[in-house]
Amino acid sequence: MLYARRTLRGVLLFALALFFTTALKAQSVFRWTESGPVARKALAPDADFRAPVAALPSFDAFALINLEAKNKRGRSILAARQRVLEILSSANACSEWFAQLGSDPLHTFRTLTFALDQKAEEHVIERTNAGKLEVRASPYVAKVAQDGGESQTVTLNAGGAFFQSVSNVIRLAKEGGPAQNHGSRPLRVGPYLGNTLEAQLTTLLHELGHVLGLLPFDGLDANGQSAVNTTEVLRHCRSSIEGAARQRASAP
Ligand SMILES: [Zn+2]
Repeated sequence: MLYARRTLRGVLLFALALFFTTALKAQSVFRWTESGPVARKALAPDADFRAPVAALPSFDAFALINLEAKNKRGRSILAARQRVLEILSSANACSEWFAQLGSDPLHTFRTLTFALDQKAEEHVIERTNAGKLEVRASPYVAKVAQDGGESQTVTLNAGGAFFQSVSNVIRLAKEGGPAQNHGSRPLRVGPYLGNTLEAQLTTLLHELGHVLGLLPFDGLDANGQSAVNTTEVLRHCRSSIEGAARQRASAP
């Protein structure tokens, strides 16, 4: 999800930035598999991870170990992924919505690979014309193949709202001249501040909606379709998302 704001109307426009493989700039790919010797071998956890690993099937343990090696960002992805698995594996309005096409959203979600894009735009870009602000675009949050089905890669922007809550603003004048620093702005996913569990769950569920074809393509976001898509996700999943966040907040 990439979001932008046309300041004339003060309307937030969200976009999924969808690119084909040649356009991917992913630096790290966390590839997960459901079985095989690698998965079993991965069950030798770091002490810090012993408890969660013991509670997870081998496939998830494999994911955990790989993500552990990718430091804090990997852990954020894994934690959010685990919450999404919990949401999808219980009976609620969110899981029912995802299952409406007769597919198995839990299974599809488990097959997804996550990649970190560390080379994408990380600033909020404001375009001005004769000193007047015309467009504000924030760094994209995530992207995935529309209607891709199983085993797709969800690419997360290291500089986007999955990981960041604030971003520096760069101003570009239509008439030319050097880019200018223009303070900073908060990054959000829907109503949620970036780098919160709510923003991360919303992002992963939004991308799953694209993978399953439940949400329409919003890559170019000419009509604010990404924001509409996020609103649709939250219509069904808000209580699950916020319930998961409350659960974590109250955890010891
Ligand atoms: Zn989207």
